[in-house]
Formats: sequence, C-alpha cells, structure tokens
Amino acid sequence: MHSFEYRQGELYCEQVPVSRIAKELGTPCYVYSYATLVRHFRAYDSAFKNIPHVIAFAMKANSNLAILRLMAKEGSGVDIVSGGELFRALKAGVPPSKIVFAGVGKAPQEIRDALKADILMFNVESPSELYAIDEVAAEVGKKACVALRINPDIDPKTHPYISTGLKKSKFGIAADRAVEEFTLASSLSHIEVVGVHAHIGSQLTEVAPFIEALKKVVQLVETLKGKGINVQYLNIGGGLGITYSDEKPPLPQDLSNAILPLVQDLKLTLVMEPGRVIVGNAGILVTKALYLKEGETKSFVIVDAAMNDLIRPSLYGAYHEIRPLNEEAGHRAKHSVDIVGPVCESGDFLAKDRLLAAVKPGELLAVMSAGAYGFVMASNYNSRPRVPEALIKGGEIHVIRTRETYDDLIKGETIPAFLT
Ligand SMILES: *Cc1c(COP(=O)(O)O)cnc(C)c1O
Repeated sequence: MHSFEYRQGELYCEQVPVSRIAKELGTPCYVYSYATLVRHFRAYDSAFKNIPHVIAFAMKANSNLAILRLMAKEGSGVDIVSGGELFRALKAGVPPSKIVFAGVGKAPQEIRDALKADILMFNVESPSELYAIDEVAAEVGKKACVALRINPDIDPKTHPYISTGLKKSKFGIAADRAVEEFTLASSLSHIEVVGVHAHIGSQLTEVAPFIEALKKVVQLVETLKGKGINVQYLNIGGGLGITYSDEKPPLPQDLSNAILPLVQDLKLTLVMEPGRVIVGNAGILVTKALYLKEGETKSFVIVDAAMNDLIRPSLYGAYHEIRPLNEEAGHRAKHSVDIVGPVCESGDFLAKDRLLAAVKPGELLAVMSAGAYGFVMASNYNSRPRVPEALIKGGEIHVIRTRETYDDLIKGETIPAFLT
C-alpha cells in the first residue's frame, strides 16, 4: 500500500499532483510520502506489539535527516553501518539507546564515537572486531554491549549481492563457531554480551528463510544459556521484501505470526532492522523524457535521470515500474524500449526491454518503489549534481534536500600550487 495513485488522470502523491512537485523542484527529483512512511512503520511495529521489541530502521536504505526524524518520532531506533550514519542519526534526534551498529569493518574511530554516544549495542561480525571493540572500550573507560552476528548458512533466495547469510558471505560468524566466539566475547573485560544477531539478506519474499535462520539462532540461545551466557536481545535483522513488480512478499504480520511462536517463551527483547519494507514503496524518482532514439534493433527513451541517481537497475538488474505522470499517456500503444540516462556507460539504464506506452519528449515519468537504496546510493559520476528530495504530507510539499550546485561538485578539491 502506498500513496501514489492516479486521480483525475494525474499521478498524485497524497494530495499533491506529482507534476506540481516536479515543477517546483525540477527533474530528476525524489518524492516521498509521509503517510506511507508512517503507515509502513506502524504496520511493522504493531505486528510485534505482543512481544518486547526495538525497531531499528536500517538507515542505509534512506538516511535523509527528515526521514530519520520522522522515524524517531514514531518511536523507531536505527541500525547504522558507519560513523557517518551515527552522526546523521544523532543529528536527527534518534535516541542513542535505540541505535545498533552493524557492519563488518568498523574503524576504531567509529567504535569510539559510538561508545561515547552510548548506543544500545554493536553487532559484531568477527573475533578480531571483538578485540578491537574491547580495546577501544578500555581506552574510553566503558563496557561495550555487543550482539554477535551469526551466519546461519541459509539461502534467502534473493539476489547474490544482497544475500548475506550464506557460508561464503563476508558477513557474520559461522554458526558452528558461534559458541566459541561467545565464550571469547564474555571473557573480555570491556565487553558485555547482550545479544545474538542474524540478518540473512534483503528483499526476501518468503517467510521460510527467516524461520530456518531463526530456528538455528534459537538453538544457539539455548546452548549459550546452558553455558551461563544469557542474552537479552535477539536481533532478527531486516530483509522483508517489497512489491517491485509482481512479488507477493509476506506482510510484517505474517512474519510476526511465524516468528512469535518460536521466541515467545525465551523472554527476550526482539530487535528488528527493517529498511526497504519501510521506505521502498514510500518513494519515487521523477524524471523527464528528453529524447527518443530508434536504433536498428532497439528503441531508447533517453531520460534526465541516470544510474548515478538510481543505481539499482545497473547494479542488481533490479526492476522498477515506470509510469507516466499523465494517466492517459499510459493507454497509448506499447513498445519495447530501454529507458536510459545521459551517463556515458552502456550500463546506464533504468529499465531494459520494457513494454512501455509511447512516451513523448518532455513528458514526465515516475520510477516507482525508489524510496529505499535510491538516493543514498546516488553519486556525482559524470559530475552530475545529486538531485533534490521532497517529503509530501497531505497537501504540503517539504523540500528535505535541495539540488546540489556545480560549486558543491568541487567542494574540497584544490589545485596544488605547483600547477598554478
Ligand atoms: C541492509 C541491512 C538491513 C536492512 O535490510 P532491508 O532489506 O532493507 O530490510 C538490516 N540489517 C543489516 C545488518 C543490514 O545490513
């Protein structure tokens, strides 16, 4: 469910015609629906209302300050993966007591900053990281709360780049080494073991892999208990998929129904790190058709958005529905086209071999489901300024990030004196 619908022949975001937003901000631009964000967060949160839980929104999916503030106001925490994300989260007013820090390569400075901020816990991914955290914690004079991330060796049946729970992946600690690493962790003087963490991948469209992973994790929790290591938190990660085209992913309530029977008696607090499922369908990328090009074997619609604005199609072969803002235009005869951007790479496309109603130059298109892993992955490749973002609330347009200027592009660059 999202709030991008046709009304009187025009695509709206909540009460605002998207064409009006495009006129105010120019194209390309990202547009998010406040109502959709709130609805998605609340659906997740209320699905788990019968068990103590912390939702730590995976902010790598969308880290705009306004979105983070919105989440914090709804009671969400965040899952961070860098010192930069910690900085953003604190700026946005996310309570440190709801921040979890994940990622395989935390640098000492990032660990230090997180300890000083008193975050809830670190999700630790290797023994060497444990030693590093212990050392920094000793130096800072604090005890670091940690959960160990277990790699349950489960195939989440998603794209290889977003599968993280297989043995061959760089993430987590192998399940059969887990007890050993927990024992190590609890022996370190500046570490307090508080949880177990597992996140097996992203865009999961079935409940089964979650359950398979959880069963292994629950078994581990029991084993640890037998060894006198009592964890309080069970972090099941994020990963719930969304509908990009015709996927039918489970709802948060389905996930909850499947999970609760396995964990209810453990007297643990659940931690969850949903990202995509909260923001994915709450955002679109608006772009303008510039040119049509009839190749000998292919036709192209050249638009003003490119892989630097939305890299998912190029990076993962991801599908994003593309809709004209004008509903009528969607009824024209359909042709198979590639929708491509201005970047000088053959890999620069938003859609390939897509059956799309004829588009005319100057017309506006919405790239749907672009709220997660969209703007956050944008780059300045080809010296293209990053595009603005707007948050729509009812009939209001709030610019939550302005378009970068050419001066922004060269910020921090200098020409050394010997070249002058
Ligand atoms: C990316 C990531 C998430 C969020 O994944 P989604 O598919 O966006 O829900 C959660 N936890 C960890 C550790 C991650 O790396």
